[in-house]
Order: sequence, then structure tokens, then C-alpha cells
Amino acid sequence: MNFATTSQSRSRMTHLLASAILAAVVIWPATSGAAAKPDAAKLRAFFIDVEGGQATLFITPTGQSLLIDTGWDGQNARDADRISTTAKKAGLSRIDYVLITHFHEDHVGGVPQLVDRIPVGTFIDHGQNRELDHGPTERFYSDYQKVLATAKSKRIVAKPGDTLPITGIKATVISSDGNLLPQALPGGGQANDACKNTTSAPADQTENARSLGILIDFGALKILDLGDLTKDKERDLVCPVNKLGHVDIYVVSHHGWSQSSSPEFVDALHSRVAIMDNGATKGGSTPTLQTLRKAPGLETLWQVHFSEEGGPAFNTGEQFIANLNGPDAGHSLELIADKTGSFDVVNSRTQFTKHYLARSR
Ligand SMILES: [Zn+2]
Repeated sequence: MNFATTSQSRSRMTHLLASAILAAVVIWPATSGAAAKPDAAKLRAFFIDVEGGQATLFITPTGQSLLIDTGWDGQNARDADRISTTAKKAGLSRIDYVLITHFHEDHVGGVPQLVDRIPVGTFIDHGQNRELDHGPTERFYSDYQKVLATAKSKRIVAKPGDTLPITGIKATVISSDGNLLPQALPGGGQANDACKNTTSAPADQTENARSLGILIDFGALKILDLGDLTKDKERDLVCPVNKLGHVDIYVVSHHGWSQSSSPEFVDALHSRVAIMDNGATKGGSTPTLQTLRKAPGLETLWQVHFSEEGGPAFNTGEQFIANLNGPDAGHSLELIADKTGSFDVVNSRTQFTKHYLARSR
């Protein structure tokens, strides 16, 4: 009986095993295709370490790519190398759109070296350089013009209210060349009480205030990136009414320097996560770190670098910092987002990952 049972069960198991193998073989291509779909449905963004400049690479579910800024020039093409390596590792053979927020060296400086490493489909910017400094800004703008003159890439000059042509996300222009979105976005328009107790900052006269800023809508998720937009312009976006409404992820303006991110602006955004592309000694100002860490609704501040100015008292927790104090290793932060509004942020130094459930709106 035991033998028979064992024999029957062995025969049954052999049959089941054979069926399972057959099923696995038969459904393998389908399973493989199905398994690729959830990843293909994600929006990914890499906050590349360019030492206090900006270089944020978005890859949409349709496979299109948008790089916001190109980091610095020089340094043996350090930043262009970091960007092109990240892009190629992510499977890109070209970058579809490169948005230049403004013409300062830490944003546009890397353009000539980048196009030597990876083709760019279209550049997007705010138009003419307005900072006639007879120095670096004019020089880097001129180098950028030389790249455009090769006609290997197209150029779009964007205005507030425009939607960028990138597919898989909706990217709405909020600020450009000193002009701002004329009316509130859907979800915006709330009165902002903080405006009554605060005053305007003096008007910034540099390229910073002309930053080309965008709001990215991806399903239920909203990501705001305004380049180096300064406090005077921020105030006009949220006072007397908040034209932007709440966002999920705030790419901290101006690398966390205190010329941007006023409390009335940051508090109005009510972002869940702030990601700061600061360097060890550039951006990451103590007042901005304080504003962010007190901001209503903020669950986590992530930083590309430990800020020496902020010191242990004001920096975010170590697990949320890509590059700690000390020798630089160029670690990045990565965002992987779902249309439902849930997302992960990953620290490339440790692979530490924090998951955020979709916000209930
Ligand atoms: Zn900058």
C-alpha cells in the first residue's frame, strides 16, 4: 500500500512536474513580456551628482528621455561623463530632450562635452541670455549657441503655459525668461495666508530669475522643478493665491541655496518629498534646510550631498544623502514612480530605498 501510494504519488508528481515544465515553457514568452510591462509603466528619474549644479534625467514609460541641465563644463568632462554613463546604463542611445533652465555655468556648461558623448534630439530653453556679464555667462551661452549652430539638434524656446512635446508625461512650463504662468493650474488657486505675514524679496537681476521651470504630471504624481528660480518669482507663483497647488516631489530650487525656497512658497507646495541637488559647499544653506524640514506635509528631504554649512544639526538623515562628508564618489538618487502616485526613492550609495504609497487626494 505504501509502495503503491508512493508509486502513484511519484507518478502524479512526475506528471505534475512535466506539466509545470511544459506550462513554464509554453507561457515563458508571455510571462517574460508581461513581466517587462510593470517596469515599462514607470517613470524613472536620476538625480545625477554634478557637484552643486543640476543634471536630472527623466525616462518616461514611452521610452522618451528628458534631461534637465547638463552640469558644469571642464573637470575633464566629469559631468558629461556622469550623465552619458547614466543614460547609457539606462538603455538610452540618445537623449530626446535637453532642457536648459538658464545660462549659468552649472546648468549649461556641460553641453558641448555632452553632445560629444551622446546625441541630443532637441534643446529646450527660455530664449536669449539676459545676463550680459562680459564673463562666464556670456561665454557659456556662446558655446551653447555654437552647438545649436551645428543643427544636429533642434531647438524649442518655451513660454509659460506651454506643454513640452515629450510623451509619457505632461510637462507644463511654469516659468520662462522671467515670465510666469498667468493663471492657476487645475488643483491650484487656493488663497495663501502666509503671504500676509511676509514681504517680497528684492527682484533678482540674474539669469536665475529667468529659469525655465516645469511641472511634470505623471498620472496622479506631480513633480516640480523650477531650476534656480529666485524668491521674488516664487512669491508671484504662490501669492496671493497658490497657482500651483500641492505637489508630490519638489526638486529643491537653486540647489537649496537660501536665495530660493521661501517658507511661503515651500509650505504652499505641501510636497511629500524634497530632493536637493546640492554640492558639499554649494547650496544646502542652513535656512533652506530648516524651511524644508519644518514644511507641512514633508515626509523626507533627500540630498545629493551632505551640506558642510548645514553640519550634523541641519542635514537630513545619512540614509537619505547620496554623498556623505568626505571624498566624493559621485553617487546619485533615483526616483521610480507609478501612475497611481506611489513611488520609490533609491540612494545609489547604499541601495537604501524608501517606498511612498500613493497620496489619497
Ligand atoms: Zn545653479
